[in-house]
Amino acid sequence: MGNSEDLLVVDEKVLNRVPSEERRAKGPYAMIECFQHIPCNPCTKACHFGAIRPMKDINELPKVDYDKCTGCGLCAAHCSGLAIFIINEAFSDTQTEILMPYEYLPRPEKGAVVDGVNRDGETVTKAVVQEIRLFPDKTALLGVVVDDRFAQVVRGIRLPFMEKDRIRDGEPEDVRIDESIVCRCEDIDMDTLTRLMDENHLSLNDLKLEARFTMGPCQGKTCTALLVQQLSRRLHIPPEQITGPRYRQPLKPVPIGELAGYPGRQ
Ligand code: SF4
Ligand code: SF4
Repeated sequence: MGNSEDLLVVDEKVLNRVPSEERRAKGPYAMIECFQHIPCNPCTKACHFGAIRPMKDINELPKVDYDKCTGCGLCAAHCSGLAIFIINEAFSDTQTEILMPYEYLPRPEKGAVVDGVNRDGETVTKAVVQEIRLFPDKTALLGVVVDDRFAQVVRGIRLPFMEKDRIRDGEPEDVRIDESIVCRCEDIDMDTLTRLMDENHLSLNDLKLEARFTMGPCQGKTCTALLVQQLSRRLHIPPEQITGPRYRQPLKPVPIGELAGYPGRQ
């Protein structure tokens, strides 16, 4: 387990979203850790309390009105980016409950002791599973309890059987990633990317033309970094030597009404 203070460092942009101490003391609240201007808004429609302000432009970042947020968790279950966490610092005098999206099976049992990991997947503390909330056809929320100082640090868990899976044929592996989603917009997994690279599709543009990587609504904001990482490993060259894909306008979704009203049209 990592015990370095470095593992507890939280990015400024996350800290800027943490509500006031007064609000945090009142009970659970939503922490929306969504920082990419992608066309996405299920969170705004999921909230029955009007706590996530409607977006004028679907590429805006969601904002929470903490006077209205009850910490119900609906937005977290509906968030397609798994970017919302419900934090309850009022859980007890010394402990915080963190509700996080959890899409793996089998789910841990209530009372299980698991590793709490930070945003980089590094183990920072032990966490106890407090609850599992299931929503029909939506992402399950797993509630874990940690010491208060990890309230803004722990954003995932690792189970004991996951540790075993990291060892194959006696050789440690980073993670078991074959079915991991690389491109959420086009639903392309790591298996597909590996097959394409095996077939000699070894540039970002080639992968784009073969499988529609970078062509979904987010226009590569999420998958490009992962593709660069994988191509860099496969080609044994530094990431900065991987040439980016070619982009063409429009770079983000534009309402058809805006195009119709464009003064330059014939
Ligand atoms: S936790 Fe509930 S009340 Fe708060 S923003 Fe999400 S859906 Fe709305
Ligand atoms: S990724 Fe989640 S938080 Fe971000 S806009 Fe989409 S639904 Fe909302």
